[in-house]
Amino acid sequence: MGKRGNQVKKIIIAIDGPAGAGKSTIAKKVAARLGYAYIDTGAMYRTVTLCFLESGRPFSEEEVTAIANRICITFQYRDGANRVFVDGREVTDAIRSLEVSQNVSRVAAVRGVRTAMVAAQRKIGEAGGVVMDGRDIGTVVFPGAQLKVFLTASVEERARRRYLELKEKGVPVDLADLEKRIAQRDELDENREISPLRCAEDAHYLDSTALSIEEVTEQIAQMAGKVL
Ligand code: C5P
Repeated sequence: MGKRGNQVKKIIIAIDGPAGAGKSTIAKKVAARLGYAYIDTGAMYRTVTLCFLESGRPFSEEEVTAIANRICITFQYRDGANRVFVDGREVTDAIRSLEVSQNVSRVAAVRGVRTAMVAAQRKIGEAGGVVMDGRDIGTVVFPGAQLKVFLTASVEERARRRYLELKEKGVPVDLADLEKRIAQRDELDENREISPLRCAEDAHYLDSTALSIEEVTEQIAQMAGKVL
């Protein structure tokens, strides 16, 4: 890999794609290989959603925007785990609940929420040396990212992967129901007015339906190797 003096080049790697495409698993592995930080931007939208649900107040754009501007979201990496905190309180597991998953796309579609999150993401990533995953990283947050990947897979395969993941954790789920929910979330994320999910023109389009985690990680690491 290319080096400048003693320093490995610190680029920004953007990995976007629909729900359950394996972005976080892959992004984490790529980051570990390069010694980069991994930033899960979906976790940030999930945290705003959790705080909104906990507030017990009715949904309004003003309400969720005020929450997004008020809270402080931080990440900690320990023993290979990516832990999420809001105002010092750990919410790593709480943000993965079904209720948060069902409400997050509505919250993430609000302009004020996106403005606050995008500003925070730019601050975290501007120095480079990050792998950031989400929906709009290569199109909006870092349109100048040196490497962009759009990672996808068929909706059936994405639902199957999520099903196995949840089953392993002992969470009872129905595969058909999961597939329906994933398709609904895609629909909302792809068709929202602000920063919809789409593949950036200069992104590498990677369909992982028939690929293993290792194969996808290897392909992205090779792409990174060409840029570094
Ligand atoms: O990545 P994850 O599935 O956890 O993201 C949860 C939701 O957060 C997405 O369905 C989407 O609505 C929103 N999101 C977003 N922009 C990002 C990351 C996530 O709108 N950069």
